[in-house]
Amino acid sequence: MVSKNDVIVIGSGIGGLVAGAMLAYYGKKVVICESHTIPGGAAHCFSRQGFHFDSGPSFYCGLADQYSLNPLQKVLKILGESIETVVYDPLGHYHFPEGSLPVYGDETSYLEAVAKFTTQGAKELELFQDHLLRLYAGLKEVPPIALRADFWLIPILLGKYGLSLLKMLPSLGDIGGSVGQIMDKWVKDPWVRRLIDLECFLLSGLKADGTVAPEVAFMFGERSNSVIEYPIGGSAAIVDALVRGLERWGGQLRLNSHVEQILIESGKVVGVRLRGDEIINAPIVISNATIWDTYTKLLKPEDLPASFRESALATPAVESFMHLHLGIRADGLDACSANRVVQRRHGRACRCRRRWGRQRRRHPWLLHPGCSCPSSPVVGGQHRCNRQRRSRPCFNCALHRFLPLGHSRRCRRLIGRRRLPGSRTWERGGRVVQRRGLLPPSLGPCHR
Ligand SMILES: Cc1cc2nc3c(=O)[nH]c(=O)nc-3n(C[C@H](O)[C@H](O)[C@H](O)COP(=O)(O)OP(=O)(O)OC[C@H]3O[C@@H](n4cnc5c(N)ncnc54)[C@H](O)[C@@H]3O)c2cc1C
Repeated sequence: MVSKNDVIVIGSGIGGLVAGAMLAYYGKKVVICESHTIPGGAAHCFSRQGFHFDSGPSFYCGLADQYSLNPLQKVLKILGESIETVVYDPLGHYHFPEGSLPVYGDETSYLEAVAKFTTQGAKELELFQDHLLRLYAGLKEVPPIALRADFWLIPILLGKYGLSLLKMLPSLGDIGGSVGQIMDKWVKDPWVRRLIDLECFLLSGLKADGTVAPEVAFMFGERSNSVIEYPIGGSAAIVDALVRGLERWGGQLRLNSHVEQILIESGKVVGVRLRGDEIINAPIVISNATIWDTYTKLLKPEDLPASFRESALATPAVESFMHLHLGIRADGLDACSANRVVQRRHGRACRCRRRWGRQRRRHPWLLHPGCSCPSSPVVGGQHRCNRQRRSRPCFNCALHRFLPLGHSRRCRRLIGRRRLPGSRTWERGGRVVQRRGLLPPSLGPCHR
């Protein structure tokens, strides 16, 4: 069958947009089909009553810094796009029952701040960080953008990065290991162990023993070697730049185009069927939908070998996640730092993020923290009142901790969750859990 498209991408999350835009850059005819009326997936932005909210991510490093290793920055550069950002430090504050810790990107300032809580712990943390930074130094010689998921990875790594691979040999154990193993080696101080668990949880949704070491090595490395920054216009600025890049190189984005099925004939992909029965043909389909949606809804069981399907669907998911978006009057809050994590006793944590943006004409600046409470499970109860009850700790323990007039300042409140398809669990996404293997390969058996 002759098709005018080379590739269909299902979903315009950051992953789908990057894949689509890069393929367009390399001369492929690409169409991205997005269910929503807004592109960006988890990174889309929305407005209510003049407040502008990020729906998900807001912590970024090195987006506009040409020396950073951030693969997104490299992609934007290739596409001929860039974004403006605001650099800030400290990243924010962690509020523990014992006091508040400013979290600096700069390694020395961070260790000095930790030393105010525990001198011995700060020394151990330094050894732990040095170990991870050595891993980062090795990893940074092989840019993530050079990595790929097929067998070409091996000749590329050996041909272009052979020397760097040799240098990484001493760290090989760490690459497949967990942060917990490195922590056990260097850190005995219970307070610092709790801090490391918290940092891992905020990054991966798992504690140190479940978080893969390169992920945290990358975070510490970028935090101290590049800059912590926020895109002007929020995450939407990144999404807009990727859409511009896609269209500049001839790719097409179709919003409000929900894919109902990936079409397979004789074991090969031939296209997709959209809601409303429109068919688009292409010999390659890339799914940016969740692994669970792709393998349970978009493909029929008979389209895939059972073992492949089963191993894909066994991908572990983070259990639950709640966002509380608040629009708050900004006057008098100048000293408030951008990200807040409030850890209550019993290991529960609320994370609050502040994003600065310009409100249409009326106020020069506005404050809108997106507030998530990952450790308050919300499995089951789907009613609004239940959600409101579950969100109460965000007000009682978190907001009031650093916004003295939190409640009375509030102008707009939204509580939302993401649902894990096929279950009653609301979640943040699939996770690479250390010791439980990697996410399934990106190339399926229907790939030509
Ligand atoms: C609350 C939250 C906070 C986060 N914070 C950070 C952070 O601070 N820093 C950071 O770097 N990362 C953060 N992340 C992670 C980051 O946002 C995600 O990793 C990233 O945005 C995921 O992009 P994606 O393209 O993989 O998937 P998604 O964003 O989930 O995109 C999938 C897209 O596919 C579309 N789709 C699904 N099914 C279909 C279909 N059948 N037909 C058509 N379209 C379909 C969806 O509508 C969606 O647009 C956060 C994530 C969340 C949820």
